[in-house]
Amino acid sequence: MNILRLDINGLLDCLSSWAGGQELYGPVKDGWRRISRDGLEAVVSIPPGAPKAPIKTFFLAQPETLFTFSARHGDDDAWIPTPPKEAPNRRVLFGVRPCDARSIALNSMPYRDDPYYQARMDKTAVVGLSCNETCSTCFCKSVGGSPYGTEGLDILLTKADGGFIAEVLTSKGEGLLEKGTGTPAGDGDMARLKALRDAAQAGTSDTQALSASFKAKNLMQLYNARLWQGLSEPCLNCGACTFLCPTCYCFDIQDEVVRQAGRRIRYWDSCMFPLFTLHASGHNPRGEKIKRVRNRFMHKLKYFTERFGALSCVGCGRCIRECPVNIDIREVIRDLLSVE
Ligand code: SF4
Ligand code: SF4
Repeated sequence: MNILRLDINGLLDCLSSWAGGQELYGPVKDGWRRISRDGLEAVVSIPPGAPKAPIKTFFLAQPETLFTFSARHGDDDAWIPTPPKEAPNRRVLFGVRPCDARSIALNSMPYRDDPYYQARMDKTAVVGLSCNETCSTCFCKSVGGSPYGTEGLDILLTKADGGFIAEVLTSKGEGLLEKGTGTPAGDGDMARLKALRDAAQAGTSDTQALSASFKAKNLMQLYNARLWQGLSEPCLNCGACTFLCPTCYCFDIQDEVVRQAGRRIRYWDSCMFPLFTLHASGHNPRGEKIKRVRNRFMHKLKYFTERFGALSCVGCGRCIRECPVNIDIREVIRDLLSVE
């Protein structure tokens, strides 16, 4: 792995080159915005924590046209799907927090064979920014991540001593840096990185143990736990938690037909909505709120863990910050782990 020291001007030069050659996006308080060469200074001072809007928006388009079709009578091509003509643009996501980068890696597992998701992954380079400061709602360490984690990233930047230490993690990351960018990191930089990582690791004994604990729990004991009733009562089923969550990836598919031509579209959907599981027959297997709330947490903590080996939560804290009735997944985790 190549590790470099960049001063502020070196980083601004990189950003300027990325903004010129492809699309460059960076976080602002409420979301992500396209950054032009004129707005580079602002993006260097990114506030702590993950922005409100989730990073999944770059990989799971909202909405996504899966294909178009014609419905004309007598037309030989009628009902033959045509793939979308526009390929995703090349882009760099800058200032991505390690929790969000990890969500990209986690979502890649269920979307491994999805050509739309994978095409966006191929065209996107992810430049992360370590969290020297965290927020009160951050808990990445408890769910298998780290404020200095590198999963899902091409380059990780860490602010140190008035500049940045850049860990170049992949060949895509190498390709982003022009020859002569920065200087090789010295012993002092390496020692600084190690000290930051060691400090972050302190107190993370529950990190990987948490998914193992959920795997070891009996599924039906969790499913039938008494806590779901009390937990679901205040929930408004507004769906804010799932829409903002970077690791919630469920969707609905609809056909839009106008004047004998149409498109099939994929939209974000939420298991917190009653319509999500409503069958054409009128039967709804999750017709009651308690079942929907249970599904949200069981999917994140038990079902996904059983299938993919990690919790479907990166501890970004968005759902905690934005839930109008203060439902806190950290408390749900604690309570579920105490179910006997
Ligand atoms: S944000 Fe809170 S109230 Fe809204 S669906 Fe999620 S848990 Fe329920
Ligand atoms: S469940 Fe909450 S804390 Fe976990 S990744 Fe989703 S929004 Fe972040």
